[in-house]
Amino acid sequence: MTDRIIFSRPFRSAAERDNLMAVLDSDHSHGDGQFTKSATAKIKQITGSPSALLTTSCTHALELSALLLELGPDDEVIVPSFAFTSAATAMALRGATCVFVDIDESTGNIDPEAAAAAITPRTKAILVMHYGGVGADMEALLALANANGIALIEDNAHGLGGTWRGQALGTIGTMGTQSFHDTKNVHCGEGGALLLSDEILMSRAEIMREKGTDRARFLRGQVDKYSWQDIGSSYLPSELNAAVLDAQLAEFDTIQSERHRVWNTYATALPDWAARNDVRLMHVPDDRGHTAHLFYLQLPNEDSRDGLIAHLSARGIVAPFHYIPLDSSAAGLKYGRTPVPCTRSANFSATILRLPLWPMLSEAQLGRVVDAVTEYQV
Ligand SMILES: *Cc1c(COP(=O)(O)O)cnc(C)c1O
Repeated sequence: MTDRIIFSRPFRSAAERDNLMAVLDSDHSHGDGQFTKSATAKIKQITGSPSALLTTSCTHALELSALLLELGPDDEVIVPSFAFTSAATAMALRGATCVFVDIDESTGNIDPEAAAAAITPRTKAILVMHYGGVGADMEALLALANANGIALIEDNAHGLGGTWRGQALGTIGTMGTQSFHDTKNVHCGEGGALLLSDEILMSRAEIMREKGTDRARFLRGQVDKYSWQDIGSSYLPSELNAAVLDAQLAEFDTIQSERHRVWNTYATALPDWAARNDVRLMHVPDDRGHTAHLFYLQLPNEDSRDGLIAHLSARGIVAPFHYIPLDSSAAGLKYGRTPVPCTRSANFSATILRLPLWPMLSEAQLGRVVDAVTEYQV
């Protein structure tokens, strides 16, 4: 029996242990210590964002976004049907209604025309998720948000370091959220960040992240005691998480070049087979820089997709499908509404699969994946 090739393996950096030992040997393991500062500076450097706040997860960064936008039961947020649950649940938690819209199947991202058609006087924000770290059509989405005076939230969990026309994903809209869950390119087990450019939002976010207090100002010596200022929660990660994250971010270029090596191998080896079998490979428009977060194939139909998953599984290769559309999920029916059926999202969800992709995936393993895929006849 040959070794199983798993779908994803978290990167590890040797410096993580040193950083962790430094925290364990210190008297400071709650948040906002030296590793929080250092990791935050690296995120700002990678994204060019004027400000960034580490959070306990991307889901919590999305919750912070919903708090900052003061979403409530009278409000609607436009959310792509094909997205992760965090975006929808963070909005629903404030009582807002998720209005699900269809995607552009060429990227898996929100379709700006579908978003435009879903705008009502209650719309407060549009949520964009850059699928696989390939930017959405930001020109159309920015125009739509500006014309209607509404916010654009970028769920950039896949897109750290990705670009759209040279601008970093996560910094183009009103706010951007990052995930450092261990299935993401850079991770600390569980963690996240909120990227902001507006100073007023930033100072409010800092308070909301720290139980509604101005503790961050107090630590900087800007106020002589700290007290309850606003609503908020406990979204600041501990130094233990920040220590691991800082070590990973220090190796960001290595992680990314390794992931691109794997991605490029698939993109180079599979086109002939794909053309012969009516399979579509993941596509990156020319004006976007992607992050090699994932590599997907779109099969002609659900049966051939399931067939390829089973074919690869029989050869010890794990190649999973991805999101189940939010609009048709149990909570989506309860907390959202869907003005127009999201048929492209349903088709995309039913026909894609993702190939194994992680740093240090060996050339031999990659060869096995390519051989197994190209053996398959649709
Ligand atoms: C992983 C992921 C999240 C959630 O991230 P957490 O840090 O686990 O909360 C949100 N959105 C997308 C697109 C994701 O892939």
